[in-house]
Amino acid sequence: SPFEGSCCVSSYVSSESSLEVAKYRVVLLGETGVGKSSLVNQFMTSEYINTYDASLDDEFGEKSVSVLLDGEESEVTFIDHPAHEMSVENSLATYDPHACVVVYSITDKASFKKAEDTLTYLWRQNYAKDKAFILVGNKVDLARARIVNTSEGKSLAKSHDSKFIETSSGIQHNVDELLVGIVKQVRLRLAAQRK
Ligand code: GDP
Repeated sequence: SPFEGSCCVSSYVSSESSLEVAKYRVVLLGETGVGKSSLVNQFMTSEYINTYDASLDDEFGEKSVSVLLDGEESEVTFIDHPAHEMSVENSLATYDPHACVVVYSITDKASFKKAEDTLTYLWRQNYAKDKAFILVGNKVDLARARIVNTSEGKSLAKSHDSKFIETSSGIQHNVDELLVGIVKQVRLRLAAQRK
């Protein structure tokens, strides 16, 4: 009935201001070819994604999704700029992200070195204070081509106060866990800042 309709509309409008959806920006950093865009593409298929409208994708590879986790909705924008197009410094200045996801491939030592340089840079710039860092060793499905050990990744993360996870966007290993970890880390940081 028309009455029912208008009732719903007005209750939606009145609750909108008090329940604003938090918006998080997440930048993916790392050497070309390590799997950044593959990971973001896999996120889009996650059960935690409430809504994802591909028509809103930015031409540079920005994707915004609504994530429902622990009963709380957040709008997360993943920014995946090709390394050669923008320096880390530029990317941070432009997007002021809540989280930096630093990705390397476990089959590529140079990408690991690059991840180390990036974490060191972030640390020196004092970004660690208010941003979540997550170090990601991707392509674990390529076990026989592994060059970077899990323990190396762990200790690099530990020395830079970063979280660590090994993933495979190819076989969907730990991809959901990474998505959940990013959102949780951002929420923890924001909660700590409010104190
Ligand atoms: P980006 O440049 O960091 O965005 O890397 P892409 O996502 O474009 O991936 C580069 C290449 O690695 C592509 O051919 C992907 O199919 C492949 N790739 C990405 N993730 C994985 C993975 O987890 N396992 C395997 N075997 N290949 C992957």
